Amino acid sequence: MKYFLFICSLAFTLMIAGCGTSNSSSKPAREFTKNGQAQKLESSSASSSLTKSNVDETVVIANPESVTALVNKKHQLPESYQPSDLVYADVPFIFNEKIEKRMLRKPAAQALEELFRDAEKEGISLLGVSGYRSHERQKELFAFYAKRDGEEQARTYSAYPGTSEHETGLAIDVTGGSGMCAAADCFADTPEAHWLSKNAYQYGFIIRYPEGEEQVTGYKYEPWHLRYVGKKAAASIFNQYATLETYANKKKV
Ligand SMILES: [Zn+2]
Repeated sequence: MKYFLFICSLAFTLMIAGCGTSNSSSKPAREFTKNGQAQKLESSSASSSLTKSNVDETVVIANPESVTALVNKKHQLPESYQPSDLVYADVPFIFNEKIEKRMLRKPAAQALEELFRDAEKEGISLLGVSGYRSHERQKELFAFYAKRDGEEQARTYSAYPGTSEHETGLAIDVTGGSGMCAAADCFADTPEAHWLSKNAYQYGFIIRYPEGEEQVTGYKYEPWHLRYVGKKAAASIFNQYATLETYANKKKV
């Protein structure tokens, strides 16, 4: 029974935190050196316990601390990266425990608190679902699914370790005050999702995986996944670029 509960808990955790489907192919990771040249890595930096057969052609990013850092299926965080300024976000969550998922990097947490307060004033009640996730935790979750369904299948619904935005401490999944539709497609039609799509940029957040941009982001539409990029970049992406990928390409972040 205990084992069963653990599995269910793990499954739920990943289900609400998987955030996206994958269009993967398999190539070794590369790393950008300081002078901008790419270097091949001998093996994926994501996890030694996972097979390398399906590793994307990814580069390890050189600016993980930047709030506009691009992390996606082709751009992964350094293996040893851990954000240095994580704090517990002072907003209500769908759970009560004081655990890792409540954390964000400080500027993102402060901006989220302001966003939640202002939303509430307009009758929009929000709850946090899942914020920061450590690299170790992502590896653990991915390994669980890879073991159960095979790595290729796992990649269709779970981010490969090192490529999840949740590892940056700048991303959070949110839902409405009822707790319904947490990280589910039905969230798209709620007043909370509409409010976020119109207003989140004013607080420095973007809807990271917008509708119709699947080919650019590599993820299906996720109206619940907010990414902090700072107010200036968020306004620019909201008004002009639509995705962080396009913005990063133009701005060379
Ligand atoms: Zn997410």
